[in-house]
Order: sequence, then structure tokens, then C-alpha cells
Amino acid sequence: MLSLVSWQLVDISTSDFMAKNPKYIFVVGGVISGVGKGITASSIAKILKDTGLRVTAIKIDPYVNIDAGTMNPTEHGEVFVTKDGDECDQDMGNYERFLDVELTRINYMTTGRVYQSVIENERALKYKGACVQVVPHIPLEIVSRIERAQKNAKAEVVVIEIGGTVGEYENILFLEAARMLKLRDPDSVRFVMVSYLPTPSSIGEMKTKPTQHSVRTLNASGIQPDIIIARSKEPIDEKRKEKISFFCNVPIEQVISAPDVKSIYDIPLNFEKEGIVKTLSKLLHLKISNKVSDSSKAWKKMTSISHNAKDEVHIALVGKYFDTGAFTLTDSYISVIEAIKYSCYAQNKKPVIEWVNALEFEKSPASVKKLSGYDGVLVPGGFGARGIEGKILAIKYAREHKIPYLGLCYGMQLAVIEYARHVAGIKGATSRELEPKSSACVIDVMDSQKEKLKKEEYGGSMRLGSYECFLKNGSIAKSLYKADKILERHRHRYEVNPLFIECLEAQGLIFSGVSPDGTLMEITEISPKEHPFFVGCQFHPEFQARPLHPHPLFTGFIKVSIKSKQKKK
Ligand code: GLN
Repeated sequence: MLSLVSWQLVDISTSDFMAKNPKYIFVVGGVISGVGKGITASSIAKILKDTGLRVTAIKIDPYVNIDAGTMNPTEHGEVFVTKDGDECDQDMGNYERFLDVELTRINYMTTGRVYQSVIENERALKYKGACVQVVPHIPLEIVSRIERAQKNAKAEVVVIEIGGTVGEYENILFLEAARMLKLRDPDSVRFVMVSYLPTPSSIGEMKTKPTQHSVRTLNASGIQPDIIIARSKEPIDEKRKEKISFFCNVPIEQVISAPDVKSIYDIPLNFEKEGIVKTLSKLLHLKISNKVSDSSKAWKKMTSISHNAKDEVHIALVGKYFDTGAFTLTDSYISVIEAIKYSCYAQNKKPVIEWVNALEFEKSPASVKKLSGYDGVLVPGGFGARGIEGKILAIKYAREHKIPYLGLCYGMQLAVIEYARHVAGIKGATSRELEPKSSACVIDVMDSQKEKLKKEEYGGSMRLGSYECFLKNGSIAKSLYKADKILERHRHRYEVNPLFIECLEAQGLIFSGVSPDGTLMEITEISPKEHPFFVGCQFHPEFQARPLHPHPLFTGFIKVSIKSKQKKK
């Protein structure tokens, strides 16, 4: 059969280096989604990396969208941005944070992307006259994308997470690709199934049957799981391990108990305790070092602080995506929340992050006073007009009452609007995004964006990914970064309008970070003589914050928030 199909329909050679016999670990879901496939994939990748292996991770999203950029945050959660400007799934952020690496668009694929490539290749006669079919050509494109990511990272191990759950129509072709890869390299491909074990309250007993059915469904795709991660509220007992082992055809030591935990950062440690590294190295013939790595020691220390720190720092996150409840919100701002946590843990503090609904302030402006109960206020990125006036009220309150303030992207643009209105006296100051016809747009659409908007080219067309920024001497930004030049990730269409810069600066607003050509304002701040910490950035520093390397802007913000709390006492 395989002789009929060339594995390399398209030239995919990217490097002379090939990790000898790279290994592939697929992570798939059973029973329900949302029980931690992404964190499982990240944790497995991390503990393998800690043994000295070169590891990379790939996320597969089965939807047709080319990327996550066009989706509503309440629909999809956060849109993560890689350094090369890919708008992708938040799990890519988890991989970057757990592995402490930078990934690129090569590590992310969707059904849309796969079909787009196959169609483009067909139009370019790359299939040399063959009848191009869903099978095998779509799965082969998936395999070739996995191999490209492996080569790009020179990875010895590639962890590939397939979104959704087995048995869904949407991910069948991805499972088919995994099956083909296993057929080609039986000893180099393994499957981990993350399955859920419910405990119905009426029965009071943990049930394994849904997991058994999921494994059968996976079997129908020609795949047998090697490891089952048994996700449940409580740890799974021996009897249920035996049942899963027996009925799902998996050795008992390869059934891993994965109960709910307080912190996602405990999961790699739990997996280690459960012996996953040993199991995987046996199954994949991996050569690993038994020495405990420095990163593993530092990780343990960080998780211990996350459990034991007592002294709290209260941060208000002023947002607007409240329609579907706080659960969705947590997902929509995951990188911001994690970045706050890392900077708190590094100061041995316990972060208490609370959602404050900007719409509440619009209904009752006097309620903005509640912000005085927080040690710091953060306005994250966002789009559109809803909740904007509430956010501006919050920023004004933080500025006037000297509460430490950090504004991210929209949070910086709104801080500029607030300053323009209430300090610089620019009446009706606004953004072109909010009032397209206004003559007081202190935030305007970037020149490079005008044509794109006119042609309705919305997907993947913002200013995306890493750009350089130069820092001004004597600024808060420079004192925090301790560098002249930084690289930060962007995702926006609007910018500080150059026509208003002089006027704003004359009124005391400092633009402490600018693009290399000096035209784009990337960081704004107020002098520490006027305010303990009032900083906004046009980029998203949260995408570069790492558990063991907190981001300097967040750390600066948290340190001053701690001080302001101590002063209040
Ligand atoms: N809506 C603003 C813009 O497009 C800010 C974007 C953001 O916060 N990511 O410029």
C-alpha cells in the first residue's frame, strides 16, 4: 500500500541535521474535552526535556479556521501569539511556558491550514498529475507538517496534541495521520490518551466505562493507546486501575492517576512520581540522564511557593468578557494571569487576581472607588467599544489615586486616551477604533493597516509577532528591562497618533519605548515623581513571561503593588 504513496509529496528538507530516529508522542482525548490535554502534553514534554532530551511540541486544532485570530475570545479563549506572529491556540502558550522555548507557526496546524496547503500544492502541480484525495493526501500533509516541525527544532522527541476527543468527525484525519506514522515507524510512535472518569453523585463511585468506550473508539481508528491518563476529581484506586488496564489493553503501570490539582505546575511533578518518564523511555528506547536538572529543582521551588506563600497581593483585572461567566474569562486572559503569578511567586507572594467588570463602572461611575481596595490595577488587551468608558474610569481612578497601573495593548491605548482627556485637555480624545469620524483620535489606525481594513482583509493581518523597541534613558521601562533594546510580541491595528505626541509629551506623558524608526510609540509611562507606577505597553509582555523567568514589566508592577500595600498598612 505504502509503495503507492510517496511520503514526501512536497520537498520538506529543512536542515542537514536529522535527530537520529526521532520519537513522536501523540496526546489524544477521551470522554470529554477540557480536562487537561494541553497541560498533559506540556507536562510530558517538560519532564522529558528535563532529562536532557531535545523536545518540541505541536498543537493540532481540528477546526477549519486558518488560525485562532478571527475567533471571539469567549468562544475560544485566549489567542496566543508566537514570535513570528502566528495567532494560535492558548496551548501553544502552555508549551512555551512549560518548555521555556519559543515556538513558531510550524508548531501549529488546523484543518484549514492543512487543506489550504494541499489545494495550493495541487494547483502548483506538486502532485504530478495524481488524483488528489482526502485520504491519503490530507493525512500525508499532516505527517509532513509534523516532520517539518521536528526538523526545525532538531527534536529528539515531538509531543503532538490532537484537539477535541476521539470519535469526533473533525479529528479523524489527524488520527489517520498518526496511524500512518506509527505504521512507518512502529517503535518511534506512542499514544497517550487523556480520559475522564466521572463520579456521578447518585452513584458515588468513579466509573471507568466511558474510558473503555473511548479506547474502543480510538481502536476503531487503528490506534491502541500506550498510556492512559486517568483524569478525575480524586486519585484513582487500584481496583479501577486494574479495570482500565484489563479492558483497555494497557499494562497497569501505564494507567496514570491524574486527580484535580490546585496548580497546573504540580502536574509535571505528579507525572514524574507516577513514573511516566521511565515508562516512556522504555517504550521509546530513550537515552535519558537520571540527574535532576537545575530547571527541575527551580520548578519544585516555584510550586512550593505557589502553595505556601501567605502574604497576598490583590490585583484587579478590569475586563469585559463577562457574558459567559468567570470561567471563560480565565481562559481569555490565561497568559496575563500566569504572568502575574510568576512575578508574585518570585517575590514569595500569593497572587489574588480578581475580575472587575468595566461595564459595572459605566452603569454606576461611583463604584469605581472599589479599586482602592486593590494593590494594583491592570487593564489587558481587547477590541471594540463595549466597556471602554468603564475601563477609562478605572484608569483615571488608578492614576489620580496613585494605584499602581499596568496597561497592556488596549490598556495602554486607553491610558493615553484618559491622559489626553483629563490632563492634556484634548476634548473628546478617543481611538479611531471607537469613533471613526472623530477629529480627536489620539489613537489612530496604523498606516500599514488602512488598505487591509478597506479590503476587509481581517485574518492574520494585524501588526503581529515580535518587533524591536528602543528604550529611553532614565525611564521606568529601561530600569526594569536593564537593556537599550528589547523584542516584544504585538497584536494590534491601532497606534498612538503621531500628530498628538508632542502635545501629550508637553503635558507630562512619557513615551519611553519607541520603534527603531522612532515612529511607533511602544511604551508610555508617567514620571515616578508623579505616580508610583503608571506604565502601558503597546505589545503583550505576557506572551514572554515564563514560570522561572518572570517578565520584568510584570515584576516591576508587582513590586510596586507590594510596596503600595505595605504603605496602606
Ligand atoms: N484594539 C486595539 C488595536 O487593535 C488593541 C488590540 C489589543 O489589545 N490586542 O490596536
